[in-house]
Amino acid sequence: MIHVKHSTSAREADVAVVGGGVVGSAIALGLAREGARVALLDEGDGAFRASRGNFALIWVQSKGLGMPAYAGWSRKSADAWAGLAALLREESGLDVAHDQPGGFMLCLSQAELEARVDAMKRLHNQPMMQDFRYEVLDHRETKKRMPAIGPDVVGALYSPHDGHVNSLRLFRALREAGARRGVDYRPSQVVTRLEQRGGGFRIEGDWGVLEARRIVLAAGLGNARLAPMVGLEAPVTPSKGQIIVTEKTAPFLRHPVVTVRQTDEGGVMIGDSQEDRGFDTIVAQPVITTMAERAVRMFPALAGLNVVRTWSALRVMTPDGFPIYEQSRACPGAFVATCHSGVTLAANHVFTLAPAILRGELPVDVADFTAGRLHVPAHA
Ligand SMILES: Cc1cc2nc3c(=O)[nH]c(=O)nc-3n(C[C@H](O)[C@H](O)[C@H](O)COP(=O)(O)OP(=O)(O)OC[C@H]3O[C@@H](n4cnc5c(N)ncnc54)[C@H](O)[C@@H]3O)c2cc1C
Repeated sequence: MIHVKHSTSAREADVAVVGGGVVGSAIALGLAREGARVALLDEGDGAFRASRGNFALIWVQSKGLGMPAYAGWSRKSADAWAGLAALLREESGLDVAHDQPGGFMLCLSQAELEARVDAMKRLHNQPMMQDFRYEVLDHRETKKRMPAIGPDVVGALYSPHDGHVNSLRLFRALREAGARRGVDYRPSQVVTRLEQRGGGFRIEGDWGVLEARRIVLAAGLGNARLAPMVGLEAPVTPSKGQIIVTEKTAPFLRHPVVTVRQTDEGGVMIGDSQEDRGFDTIVAQPVITTMAERAVRMFPALAGLNVVRTWSALRVMTPDGFPIYEQSRACPGAFVATCHSGVTLAANHVFTLAPAILRGELPVDVADFTAGRLHVPAHA
């Protein structure tokens, strides 16, 4: 446990975390657990917020092609997730319905299966992938493990590392546990200006000024604008995802599928598309129809269920899809943390990233995740 000397002024924090999505809330909790006095500044519920609309998978298989360190980072978090769920139960009183029974990617044609298997082989030909387990299953074997599949399912990839949670309850639990640890959550405090001053940082908005010794930029899409103010880079852009939710039904789907999962409450979530459409969050019929048709081919029983909700939300996407974690060289003490799998990586953010930020040095696991990689030509 690191002991942080608390400042005396009521306007100061040891660490200011900018952005109260699932990434910022997890880091704030991790910092507070180490004894830091944390202010969590957030634009509020009206902001574009990936954390309000995600698919809630803890997903490892298929992650890290082109950057094996990302596969390792995802796996580390997935392995630590049971511990995070237990911590949140104890510290927030909330059960986030964590379940990691292994996940499936179902394929509806031979070509799709071959493409998936090929990608998986390339992923596993990379270094450091020895401990990652997966199986390729034909229709019969998939049916044995998932009796609800339809005849159109040609086969599947299965990995025991994958799982899911109740996403909104996770978000609430992170906030509640943080609040009980003293995190000072400040909604409607949009940060417009950052400046390093006298060994700390001055953080400004219409609401006033806050001074903090360290600053963590976890503002999702807002990081693109904020990072350069402290010598960092976060060239993130929105990637739209649409989701369908059905009425509740009796449990029939024990395992999460990458595009279909039954929640702990009984509803079935179908998703998640990926579109580059700027800041457009309109739910569009053609995409929703394709998603629904594919889901019904996977699980014919879905055809009998009513849809009760649809939504779209914007992922926070870097140019290569991998996270950026970095401390500023120009302004030491300023960190950026941005990723598109904030649910999967929540355990790492609480247990590994936050303590490292307090130590002032990011962990070796994330050494490859600086924004500088984005300037190296892919075929150099
Ligand atoms: C459709 C969809 C499906 C997804 N599925 C999964 C999944 O299955 N598994 C998984 O692990 N992840 C998934 N994700 C990603 C996940 O939701 C994470 O939330 C994502 O990684 C980004 O979280 P974040 O906290 O960085 O950003 P956000 O949730 O966008 O939060 C950013 C916060 O910063 C605040 N902010 C912005 N600018 C400022 C400013 N200037 N001042 C103060 N505050 C500011 C906003 O108010 C907001 O609350 C999915 C996302 C989407 C959209």
